[in-house]
Amino acid sequence: MANKKRSLTGYQKEENDELWLWDDIPELGMEVGYKIDRLLHYEQSSYQEISIADTRSFGRMLILDGTPQITSKDGFIYNEMISHIALATCPMPENVAMIGGGDCGPAREAMRYESVKRIDVVEIDQRVVDACKIWMTQDSKDNADGRVHLIYRDGYKWIQEQTNVYDILLIDRSDPYGPATSLYKPPFYQYVHDSLTKEGIAVFQAGSPYYSSHILKGTVKNLQRLFPIVLPYTCTVPTFPGGIWCFVLASKKWSPLQADLSRLQWTHSKYINPDLFRASFILPNYIKRLLNE
Ligand code: SAM
Repeated sequence: MANKKRSLTGYQKEENDELWLWDDIPELGMEVGYKIDRLLHYEQSSYQEISIADTRSFGRMLILDGTPQITSKDGFIYNEMISHIALATCPMPENVAMIGGGDCGPAREAMRYESVKRIDVVEIDQRVVDACKIWMTQDSKDNADGRVHLIYRDGYKWIQEQTNVYDILLIDRSDPYGPATSLYKPPFYQYVHDSLTKEGIAVFQAGSPYYSSHILKGTVKNLQRLFPIVLPYTCTVPTFPGGIWCFVLASKKWSPLQADLSRLQWTHSKYINPDLFRASFILPNYIKRLLNE
């Protein structure tokens, strides 16, 4: 274990000696507790606090600055939903990039598309990827796929050097604090637009529509100024507080609502299928009203 610390954000030993992770959601005046069976890794990197733990309910979990990011039990939902909608909407995706690497789950989903020639994964913090390789997916043969290129840079700076390059860009950003703060700034959306080819599609992780609705709203508003097609969609991630989670798709030409879903690579999947692909764009009224305000 690198840089051992005495206590990490959110971890608490109870009187009965049990270890719990408490994820604080200040917007709701609420904390969600995860019982920790074993703390496997913890360190303070140059960018954030990184820990990996075995939890009682969700299996192995990657935690950054006290916030759960991905788990071995329900991570498939997030990884499939951030990647397949754009990949199946674009008729022939060749160049794919993602900002935010972590355990590289979305890159493994992108590999399922034969037309994809290159997958650039831009991650600010190499320590996260290294820790995930040891503790999260050490057995994954997919990690050796020659199409994947890891780039250890700040995505905000990196994207400013890309013009008209990518068919698909997945913004797998963490919450808007720490190293990910810049990935929510208005100019970032313009840089994403400019880095895409003329038929390009981007997808942004956009948080909870219930307790961080300003993120969803801000993402949609910024993208509507730039793209002709902007569509939020939802999925349910049991690990995340409140369950319901949003992504926003922004496209220059192709709409997922008219996509040929025979392209969707879903035979392996545990969450997405053609019906769910279509249904994920149907929004409850409280989200529709929020976006129309
Ligand atoms: N889906 C991923 C997985 O399978 O593990 C989880 C990715 S996690 C939501 C977000 C990742 O973005 C973290 O690994 C974090 O270090 C990285 N990140 C945060 N800010 C960044 C930035 N400015 N540039 C590039 N990566 C960043």
